[in-house]
Amino acid sequence: MKIIVVEDEVQVRKLLKISLESSGHEILVATNGNEAVQMAANQRPEAVILDLGLPDMDGTEVLKKIRGWSQIPIIILSVRNSEDTIIHALDSGADDYLTKPFHVGELMARIRVACRHAARGKEEPIFKSGNLEVDLSGHLVKISGEEVKLTSTEFNLLTVLIRHAGKILTHRQILKEIWGPNATEQNQYLRVYISHLRQKIEMDPDEPKMIITEPGIGYRFRFQGVEDSS
Ligand code: CA
Repeated sequence: MKIIVVEDEVQVRKLLKISLESSGHEILVATNGNEAVQMAANQRPEAVILDLGLPDMDGTEVLKKIRGWSQIPIIILSVRNSEDTIIHALDSGADDYLTKPFHVGELMARIRVACRHAARGKEEPIFKSGNLEVDLSGHLVKISGEEVKLTSTEFNLLTVLIRHAGKILTHRQILKEIWGPNATEQNQYLRVYISHLRQKIEMDPDEPKMIITEPGIGYRFRFQGVEDSS
């Protein structure tokens, strides 16, 4: 895969370049925001790893510019760890967010998830993950082959989560998709419906394995395929 690394710190840049190249990726390096935007337009990368603190502009500006024409996976890698910053980056179109210091293995896993999601492209009518099977066109949900009855809101919520499987969705993004732009502050609705959904599809709703809470930020559907069994 061709990946652009946008990073102004030499040490981090070296670490990323060496570890990603050793996994067989082609790495292009940008050291500031303008260079990153131009490189993304000219080089047609398959993913971007983006720092937020850049010398010429904020990484979220780079993110918004690239999102103006491209839906390629963009993963934020930053020392900034406040909920507000993470939510803002995700709402601005980042696929994922990892804080420094980071584990290379974790970053690689996030890249794989983001790229698999991008490659999946068109929705397949049947979604399978672990013991869950969802027929998106037929509105049918099964756990271990047994049909589970969901209300239409629960089904819509599950659909939003699995359409973005692996990716963190902010409360705002989920609320907007289900209840529209006027409902984006209604976090308590969401909490109630997430709880209902977990009761119906999780083996142990108190220790969810599919619908994971990202504290203060939102939720993530953890895909349980062959590759993600670890
Ligand atoms: Ca930086």
